[in-house]
Amino acid sequence: MKLSDINSEPHRRYNILTNEWVLVSPHRTKRPWQGKVEAAFVDSGISYDPNCYLCPGNTRAGGHQNETYEHTYVFTNDFASLKPDVEVDGVFEEGLLKSAVEKGLCRVICFSPNHKLTLPLMDAQDIERVVRVWQREYLEMGALDYINYVQIFENKGDTMGCSNPHPHGQIWASRFIPDEPAKEHQTQTAYFEKHGRSLLADYLRQELETKERVVVENEHFVALVPFWAVWPYELIVISRAHLQHLGQFDESQIAAYADILKRLTIRYDNLFTTSFPYSAGIHQAPTDGKDNSGWHFHMHFYPPLLRSASVKKFMVGYEMLGNPQRDFTAEYSAGVLRDLSEVHYLHAS
Ligand SMILES: [Zn+2]
Ligand SMILES: [Zn+2]
Repeated sequence: MKLSDINSEPHRRYNILTNEWVLVSPHRTKRPWQGKVEAAFVDSGISYDPNCYLCPGNTRAGGHQNETYEHTYVFTNDFASLKPDVEVDGVFEEGLLKSAVEKGLCRVICFSPNHKLTLPLMDAQDIERVVRVWQREYLEMGALDYINYVQIFENKGDTMGCSNPHPHGQIWASRFIPDEPAKEHQTQTAYFEKHGRSLLADYLRQELETKERVVVENEHFVALVPFWAVWPYELIVISRAHLQHLGQFDESQIAAYADILKRLTIRYDNLFTTSFPYSAGIHQAPTDGKDNSGWHFHMHFYPPLLRSASVKKFMVGYEMLGNPQRDFTAEYSAGVLRDLSEVHYLHAS
């Protein structure tokens, strides 16, 4: 059976990274829908907000004052979910109840001093500074003996529960390896041990044969809608080389990574002419000093929007209780994103 035949009927797709499934129901896209076209998001024009706790020189809620920074700026989260100064021998076990004390570090990274400059609106050169800070933080935090995993992520937009519009990301570094990377550690390591090759390198090779799901590519990276995508416009950015982590990036890979981030986030903003919300994050090798040869650097983008700047996908009902489900296919989404302009709508004349 060919994919085009399968694609007209309900089917399941397998996620090679997490060993999970997604239900795809393309026939449901024939349901009537009154396409809504919304007014473009209007540029607020504020580059400095005296009430923003992330703008340069301002005082944060915790009482600390930001430096009058000129580029990317990092500080330790005043209300961190993980703290470095705790004793971790506190394991609690009673019958079937089990818990363990954890320690770690949480940092906030302001991408730019400019309050309104999201990644797609920043110069490629300034995005490179962000990538260099990610690289430095991964290596520095990962080198601490009690840090075994460094999770770099961005939560963008108030629909994602982001509390401040000033473009920023976060880094949570922990002693434990969180569940998502732990699942991907297992699948990638098992594949590498069996075949002696990277799972994602082989996957990328197969995707590049047809390019059906490829959205943007450059010398060192490819951004595509994964075959098993759950979110309507989900993307994965994969390095062409089998790199385990940011620490191995050279100058040309840093530049290419910044380039692909800019190009894909511009497409996202252009899709519904809005500052496109998402949760995005890097998955890379744990910093536990063990053999992580199977790991292949990649970044996930999970955007919630479905049909417009205000209509989002809900993960409810069957999805909470059974499996995630989507209507239009990954191939459809990739085609839509591929056809969009790489000139940001706010800059288009
Ligand atoms: Zn600000
Ligand atoms: Zn991943």
